[in-house]
Amino acid sequence: MRIDVLTVLPELLHSPLNWSIVKRARDKGLVEINIVNLHDYASDRYKSVDDYAFGGGAGMVMMIEPVYKAVEELKKERDYDEIIYTSPDGEKLTQKKANALSLKNNIIILAGHYKGIDQRIRDHLITSEISIGDYVLSGGEIPAVVIIDAVVRLLPGSLGDEQSALADSFQDDLLAPPVYTRPAEFMGWKVPDILLSGHAAEIEKWRHEKSLERTRRLRPDLSGD
Ligand code: SAM
Repeated sequence: MRIDVLTVLPELLHSPLNWSIVKRARDKGLVEINIVNLHDYASDRYKSVDDYAFGGGAGMVMMIEPVYKAVEELKKERDYDEIIYTSPDGEKLTQKKANALSLKNNIIILAGHYKGIDQRIRDHLITSEISIGDYVLSGGEIPAVVIIDAVVRLLPGSLGDEQSALADSFQDDLLAPPVYTRPAEFMGWKVPDILLSGHAAEIEKWRHEKSLERTRRLRPDLSGD
């Protein structure tokens, strides 16, 4: 899979995409992540990527030209399945959406900034819009990282078997059961006996019951009850 991120602030993306599971997936060649600095596609000597909003009002707007040029250059090299704009009014990111994106070959994610992006980018270049929640952030870089992390951990080989993504919350509309590690007792707080019993089938049953109980209690909207 290849993911190109278009941004006016590449510095915000480098570190979060160079650690942990995303780094391992990149090192293994499971995903190629390319960060494109939109300032490189500006046409003036100040490398401008934003301008005043037509009609007035506070805040700058991301210009169409650098985005158009960057997208055209990428499209010359390969076909893209999706050109995503991160937007507070987009479709809410869910596990289901992350699963679907993990099956794509090539995607572009455009991280917005300032007051937003010229509407013509959304009308003519973008194929889908994703929100990471009902709140407004300063830029789309953190949402882009959230989307990439959620997608990359699903690529076969990203996680070791012991960390299978299928056991994560929201797969099968169930929250994950609680997990424990050593010591078996700390300050008198004990790990449930069943987990120390060695009975694989009983442990699996316990985990499933805990998943159901947590889902009913914390997210009754998921449990279908
Ligand atoms: N004026 C815009 C509005 O009210 O919808 C918000 C612009 S916001 C300050 C700048 C950029 O951050 C947006 O263009 C978008 O790319 C990104 N952004 C902010 N909140 C987001 C969210 N919840 N999900 C995805 N992207 C978000």
